[in-house]
Order: sequence, then structure tokens, then C-alpha cells
Amino acid sequence: MTTFRRKLTPETVRRLTLSAEPWLSCDDCFAAVDEYVELLLANAPDDMPALRAHLSGCSACCEEARSLLLLVAADENVDPGPALRRLEEF
Ligand SMILES: [Zn+2]
Repeated sequence: MTTFRRKLTPETVRRLTLSAEPWLSCDDCFAAVDEYVELLLANAPDDMPALRAHLSGCSACCEEARSLLLLVAADENVDPGPALRRLEEF
């Protein structure tokens, strides 16, 4: 019988939850990134944690998302600043 106990801090729980996210391939990310960019530009709540997790670990897709965000923002004539900051605040 083991009495070993690990204290779970909120930070540990967050990490465990993050690593349990469904794994996204770059193709999956590419397919959903336009939706994510729209979400950021609309200042909507971030309900795509798997995508965010992928972007935080994949500089290629993060760069792609940034370019798309700037493109869409220019197209819709909105200020990309706040959305860009949200994209980059990993
Ligand atoms: Zn990727």
C-alpha cells in the first residue's frame, strides 16, 4: 500500500489538461485556422484549445495564422492589434 501523494497545483492540472488535448496535425490546424482567426478578430471567447495548443508548439502554423489574421483584418478593415496580441500571448 503506497501512501505517496502528489500535490496537484492548478498549474499542474492545467498542464495535464493541455497535454490531454486531441493532437492536431498541421493539416488539421490549417483546416481550422481561418475559423480561429475569425474568432480572434471578433474578440470571441477562445473555445478552440486544441488549435491554440498546436499553434503554441508549431511556429510554421503560428506564422501562417499571423499572416492570415493580418490579411483578414485588412480585408474587413478592422484593427488587427488586439487579435494579434491574443494570438501571441502563449
Ligand atoms: Zn503546425
